[in-house]
Amino acid sequence: MSNYRIQGETGEWEVVIGLEVHAQVTSQAKLFSSAATQFGAEPNTQVSLVDAAMPGMLPVVNRECIRQAVRTGMAIDAQINRWSRFDRKNYFYADLPQGYQISQLYHPLVGEGALTIDADEKAGIPEARRIGIERIHVEQDAGKLMHDQHPTMSYVDLNRSGVALMEIVSRPDLTSPAEAGAYVRKLRSILRYVGSCDGNMEEGSMRADVNVSVRKPGEELGTRTETKNVNSVRFVMAVIESEARRQVDLIEDGGAVVQETRLYDPDRNETRSMRSKEDAHDYRYFPDPDLLPLELDDGFLAECRNSLPELPDAKRARYEGELGLSAYNANALTAEVETARWFEELLGETAAAQGKPEKDVAKQAANWLMSELLGALNKIGASLDASPVSPKAGAELLALVGEGTISGSIAKQVLEFMLETGDGATAIVEREGLKQESDTGAIEAEIDKVLEANPDKVEQYRGGKDKLFGFFVGQVMKAMQGKANPQVINELLKQKLG
Ligand code: ADP
Ligand code: MG
Repeated sequence: MSNYRIQGETGEWEVVIGLEVHAQVTSQAKLFSSAATQFGAEPNTQVSLVDAAMPGMLPVVNRECIRQAVRTGMAIDAQINRWSRFDRKNYFYADLPQGYQISQLYHPLVGEGALTIDADEKAGIPEARRIGIERIHVEQDAGKLMHDQHPTMSYVDLNRSGVALMEIVSRPDLTSPAEAGAYVRKLRSILRYVGSCDGNMEEGSMRADVNVSVRKPGEELGTRTETKNVNSVRFVMAVIESEARRQVDLIEDGGAVVQETRLYDPDRNETRSMRSKEDAHDYRYFPDPDLLPLELDDGFLAECRNSLPELPDAKRARYEGELGLSAYNANALTAEVETARWFEELLGETAAAQGKPEKDVAKQAANWLMSELLGALNKIGASLDASPVSPKAGAELLALVGEGTISGSIAKQVLEFMLETGDGATAIVEREGLKQESDTGAIEAEIDKVLEANPDKVEQYRGGKDKLFGFFVGQVMKAMQGKANPQVINELLKQKLG
């Protein structure tokens, strides 16, 4: 548990948080119709008769959406329910032509699971924590209302109507804004590894309902409020902070928190009441008579499991254990699936180019990617997926360093040429005359000159001032415009000074 506390007039308060994350399932078609789901299409161009709730239309469950939700459940070590059922959640709203949402209340597809949020000392998460996940159920999204287009009219876009959502419900295990932020980021990372949701919060593919309550340490859970549709990690954290503060002030002023649904206003950084919270009976849930229960067979489950990729926690452990990468690099390289993919392609190409096993070149590849390439890309405002340098081109550069053709510092220059021109490393090294000098004769001559020019330093070195060794190396390297093989300089210098 974090030691995050709200300071009130009557002492310290703990915060309890549970998140309901709605994640749009990556699929070509909707949950119960074959209409397309592409983001950003013209309004009402992706609406089938089912999505518009025309009388007599019948839903047909989309196998792919179920498959993605099951794979997601497996990725959070959850119980997969072989038998589940869809229920109708009845309510009236202009964005919901059916008058009910098809969801799962009593028998969700996925039961208990968990995910691990990692320790992050700086963010106030002293140790890794397992956060319980109560369930994942599958449901339809609603359409989208637009009120501001015309002073007296509202419009509805039904493109989103019927799109498959996974509702991923956490246990009230989170105890600080930082933990909640880490939870959303980790969940998003897992979804993107699995490929079941693109995790794009700006486009609304992932949004969170934020449940917050406060209590004095050791007391029972307090009454929660739920802030709906929060669409960024930053806002999730801000909602918790402002809502917890509001609740503490309210209680300390003699009031009581009412269970209600609230909305977040990012401009004013506060939540405000939207409506009192409905209970399940308000929705008159009942099993959808148009749909059979879902029954999953062994073959389907096996395919779901076998199609799962290596997930971020396992990958990070392997990078550290098998590849010998630092914890920092292993963490950074596995946080986003694109980075891990890029790295693994680079690693494969690097090993092939140098004829070595992957684990022998892993550090070289990881260090270069982390400290050279990402920095250089950042400077030109490009991301890794839009990198002008491919993993294969990177491997060619690393091979030149590995075989001693160029030094690490020359490699930096070569990378800049590569980013600028798109040419290969070998061609650039040829053209710019950047080949490393390994000819001992030429290096020796430069060493002699440097030693001759610095007799006092030579004396100090011989008198025990070991640190000066670096100075000599630097001088020789400078004299040779960075193109001398540092190993050869080291050896020859040692001989001459020894
Ligand atoms: P509903 O659909 O009514 O919001 P759910 O069971 O789907 O109910 O979700 C409830 C969410 O609220 C869960 O994420 C749960 O962890 C969280 N929660 C429950 N009790 C509390 C509490 N006292 N404080 C904070 N969060 C809570
Ligand atoms: Mg809910």
